[in-house]
Amino acid sequence: MLSYRHAFHAGNHADVLKHAIVIQMLQHLGLKDKSYWYIDTHAGAGVYALTEGFAAKTAEFETGIGRLWERDDLPPLLADYVAEVKALNPDGAMRFYPGSPYLAWRIMREQDRMRLFELHSTEIEVLRHNFRDAGRRAMIYAGDGFDGIKALLPPPPRRALVLIDPSYEDKRDYARTLDCLAEGLKRFATGTYAVWYPLVTRMESQRFADQLKAIRPTGWLHASLTVKKPPEDGLGLFGSGMFVLNPPYTLARDLKEALPRLVELLGEDSGASFKLEHRGD
Ligand code: SAM
Repeated sequence: MLSYRHAFHAGNHADVLKHAIVIQMLQHLGLKDKSYWYIDTHAGAGVYALTEGFAAKTAEFETGIGRLWERDDLPPLLADYVAEVKALNPDGAMRFYPGSPYLAWRIMREQDRMRLFELHSTEIEVLRHNFRDAGRRAMIYAGDGFDGIKALLPPPPRRALVLIDPSYEDKRDYARTLDCLAEGLKRFATGTYAVWYPLVTRMESQRFADQLKAIRPTGWLHASLTVKKPPEDGLGLFGSGMFVLNPPYTLARDLKEALPRLVELLGEDSGASFKLEHRGD
């Protein structure tokens, strides 16, 4: 039984890192006329209310998107991210937060397609409701994204961004993500695959970046943002990482500028730091 509800965490530091990178990569795919697919193996609800319900209880967004909201001095990758969140909040008050499916939906063009998987019985209903007017450009599957994606690869236009964004509450998510990437590369070697992962004290998280990097010697980028020292009680998220296979060549350049700003703006203590590593083909 799944207990994770993304609304508790919507707009936190991990969403900032993940969503800023996803937006950059979709914008890059859109530079060519040829269509692309966006595939989200763990889609969540699509849109989250910040002023009521789960998100308001934890208010994690206040130390994430909240710290960027008023800034007019952000590097392009972060300015584009804030602009996308503001587009969902046209009256200027921060009331709604876009999940990855909604961000992708705004950036996609007429010729592009979206495929979303969600396993949680309540989240899938909210996701379906949020995309009720999307038509066949957005297909939503109630089911396991790790398994379901196999039937979609390679996508017809042979251009795609795949986001693999589990909650990792189930520690099998680490191994399943590695298998999913290996399987994905066999079916569609030229796709762009992005994996989000948490920085927590559990062993699986500590060694995960090395396991991701070992999938292929070249053609990857790894970025992580640590916002505080690891908690002494061993509980909770102190940062997160994004690992991208076949990243756009502009991503490392944009992150080089953005990550130090994120440390400055989202850092909670002297443990705040970032990592940026990439290996070209
Ligand atoms: N990608 C979303 C975003 O950025 O807005 C957030 C996704 S959230 C971190 C993870 C989601 O995956 C949860 O909504 C959870 O219910 C769902 N989930 C968990 N296991 C799954 C699985 N095996 N297949 C598909 N969805 C799953």
